[in-house]
Amino acid sequence: MNPIRKKILVTGGAGFLGSHLCERLLDAGNEVICVDNFFTGAKQNIVHLLGNPMFEVIRHDVTFPLYLEVDQIYNLACPASPVHYQFDPVQTTKTSVIGAINMLGLAKRLKIRIFQASTSEVYGDPEVHPQPEEYKGAVNTLGPRACYDEGKRCAETLFFDYQRQHGLDIRVARIFNTYGPRMHPNDGRVVSNFIVQALKGEDITVYGDGLQTRSFCYVDDLVEGFIRLMNSKENMLTPINLGNPGEFTMLGLAEKVISLTASKSKIVFKSLPADDPLQRQPDITKAKRLLDWEPHIHLEEGLKKTINYFEKIVLS
Ligand code: NAD
Ligand code: UDP
Ligand code: UDP
Repeated sequence: MNPIRKKILVTGGAGFLGSHLCERLLDAGNEVICVDNFFTGAKQNIVHLLGNPMFEVIRHDVTFPLYLEVDQIYNLACPASPVHYQFDPVQTTKTSVIGAINMLGLAKRLKIRIFQASTSEVYGDPEVHPQPEEYKGAVNTLGPRACYDEGKRCAETLFFDYQRQHGLDIRVARIFNTYGPRMHPNDGRVVSNFIVQALKGEDITVYGDGLQTRSFCYVDDLVEGFIRLMNSKENMLTPINLGNPGEFTMLGLAEKVISLTASKSKIVFKSLPADDPLQRQPDITKAKRLLDWEPHIHLEEGLKKTINYFEKIVLS
């Protein structure tokens, strides 16, 4: 018996980030239970893990109670791309809020540590740049992104109230835009959209003037951050930003993708969606200091790996 082996629950484990996390936790010798309702996740993302006797999948919606015996919980269940989370906005808020209550209730009963996948969207369209954890954010409560942003903000509130009221050991990561293999090809996120369009020789759809910025973190770097945050011996009475501070315009990203795929695609401009944040860049001072973590994979290197993945699924 491996003395460091833990039984770990990953909700949303069949999704993009969750599947990479399950893989890393299994590689480290843990037992992993993946709970997912397969709304945006896919069996394909975890099929390579299914033969592992330390891996188990449960089809379950986290808005319903869940009774299991585990040692740690990573709560990732929630659609993450605007196209998916706006498809059924009420269910998105329920997943964030009721899902958090159920997973916190589980952690409280078992007296175990619980990690929440929060988001840079809690900063909304930020007036402070880059965004440190102290920045309180500017979210439109009524817009089409609110179901996600406010759901995640309320989940954070619940995590910190369970910490204060019940002494729960919580970890809250504010994740900035992340990309890599197993992103959903049709989820409308910018990296997957541009790569798929470039590989198919279709027009590259830049929204607005393309001068809005995002900072993109490669999935392997992010998962390393998750594991360090979860296992840090420090009490984490603050959320922690996890993301890559390298900031790019969407036009710059489109040009990079065209060049890396040697594509003949042309850039076309489409209207900017409502409440689309103008700029976003994480201040990762806290993650560096408390977790000794920072990303190492540059955009070009990460894009090449991601293009490789999409070539297999789009062109085959
Ligand atoms: P994803 O859509 O690929 O994965 C989400 C997973 O949760 C899917 O497998 C989906 O089927 C599952 N799910 C959704 N609703 C559920 C429910 N009610 N019950 C059980 N399972 C449910 O998205 P992702 O990019 O892997 O994101 C994972 C988490 O990280 C999400 O909580 C997201 O908000 C957060 N996050 C992601 C990013 C990013 O750039 N990828 C940025 C910030 C935050
Ligand atoms: N819960 C769960 N699994 C557990 C324990 C609790 O899903 O092992 C759910 C349960 O449905 C409850 C929620 O978590 O409604 C919150 O639990 P808590 O103990 O905080 O509150 P209460 O049970 O008093 O509502
Ligand atoms: N975007 C774009 N073309 C696309 C998809 C997205 O120009 O085909 C833009 C979008 O308007 C936003 C940025 O890219 O400014 C990032 O969008 P994404 O949906 O990936 O993430 P989020 O807006 O949630 O950060």
